[in-house]
Amino acid sequence: MRVYSTLSRRLEELPEPPGPIRMYFCGPTVYQRAHIGNARPFVLGMWLRAWLRERGYEATLVHNITDVNDKIYDAAPGASAELAAQATEWYLQDTSDLGLGMPDELPKATDAIPSIVRFIGQLVDSGHAYAVEGDVYFRVASDPGYGRLSGQRPDQVEEQEPNPLKEDPRDFALWKANKPGEDTAWEAPWGRGRPGWHIECSAMAEDAFGPVFEIHGGGLDLVFPHHENEVAQSLALGHEFARVWMHNGMVGGMGGDKMSKSLGNDVSLRNVLDTWGREVALMFFLGAHWRKPIEFGDEVLVQAKAQVDTFRNFFLDEQPGDEGGEEVLDGELAAVLDDDFNTPEALALFHAWRDREEWVSLRWGLGLFGLGSLTEVEQAPAEVAELAEQRREARDARDFAGADRLRDEIAAAGWEVRDVAEPPGYRLVRRS
Ligand SMILES: [Zn+2]
Repeated sequence: MRVYSTLSRRLEELPEPPGPIRMYFCGPTVYQRAHIGNARPFVLGMWLRAWLRERGYEATLVHNITDVNDKIYDAAPGASAELAAQATEWYLQDTSDLGLGMPDELPKATDAIPSIVRFIGQLVDSGHAYAVEGDVYFRVASDPGYGRLSGQRPDQVEEQEPNPLKEDPRDFALWKANKPGEDTAWEAPWGRGRPGWHIECSAMAEDAFGPVFEIHGGGLDLVFPHHENEVAQSLALGHEFARVWMHNGMVGGMGGDKMSKSLGNDVSLRNVLDTWGREVALMFFLGAHWRKPIEFGDEVLVQAKAQVDTFRNFFLDEQPGDEGGEEVLDGELAAVLDDDFNTPEALALFHAWRDREEWVSLRWGLGLFGLGSLTEVEQAPAEVAELAEQRREARDARDFAGADRLRDEIAAAGWEVRDVAEPPGYRLVRRS
């Protein structure tokens, strides 16, 4: 299996199964409800883990929670810890509702402070970092390869975190002295304060995996400065760090004047799940290659919903017979997923399997992406079945107004009643 790496700028072959494949995907800074774009690295990481395991790999996924950060202080002056705790709960709930399971570990930055302080101490001791009035900065000039990930030339690196006391405008903060209004701080040899963002991920990744692991992931917007600085810090201590860097394309169309009619101004993952359902959200991501940007909006959601319905109806309308003994043909799917995890090609294959009525393969394939629910025919609860029975009686009595009213009641309960030729003359279908 091979995937594109930002670091080498080419497709990189992964080791043979069982690996291991250890993956660290940067998670959210928790200061508000996650938006649909924040869900993309989560979904990619969970799908990739599922596929690697299917292929016989020992795959693990660590996805961090950045719960101390300037954005959180700005969003809740004096009460950032409470906001971070609340937003962490939201994130865990919303991502869990995607129905993909959860990462193996979800470390929080605030739980990793001892490792972070130790890491910074080693950088100071080895001359790669220096303290100034309670802040500690990484000395970019000490890393001749700086820019290796983002492709920025060392002499043209953008200034980060302006401070006239820095030796070099390119230097970035490892530790920040506590400021008035910041309600969280920890003791460190350089004074009370809190970690910079980049060192958190280096420390949490190494806490989970040790200094070398196979894949580091995150959104394309994290290449610089976040990941560039992670690499610099870890290499400075003589560590190899992540071998392959996977950066997912950004989700666009979420601001400005073309906001969604169906979602209003709320493009949170929560609202997408509540309004469209998790299957539509997953189908939206499945249809785009992980490296490409995708536009979000009503149009793509309608398209995703249509595909969800197509698969669901396939399993509803024609009941597959006995499937015992049929082999799952994974060769076709492996050909597209092992080649840079091409999910749009996988989706095209699922449609081909549907056309060819390859039930078993399709059920297996959709299940890998958390869409196994589309293949299950759910039984309506007794009260809905009773309404459907009353509607049939109303129709038999040519009380069409009454039948329509009952149809609406059934719809309000989340079900659709479809008239069919076979007895009892209708079928109840879960509405997505
Ligand atoms: Zn990170």
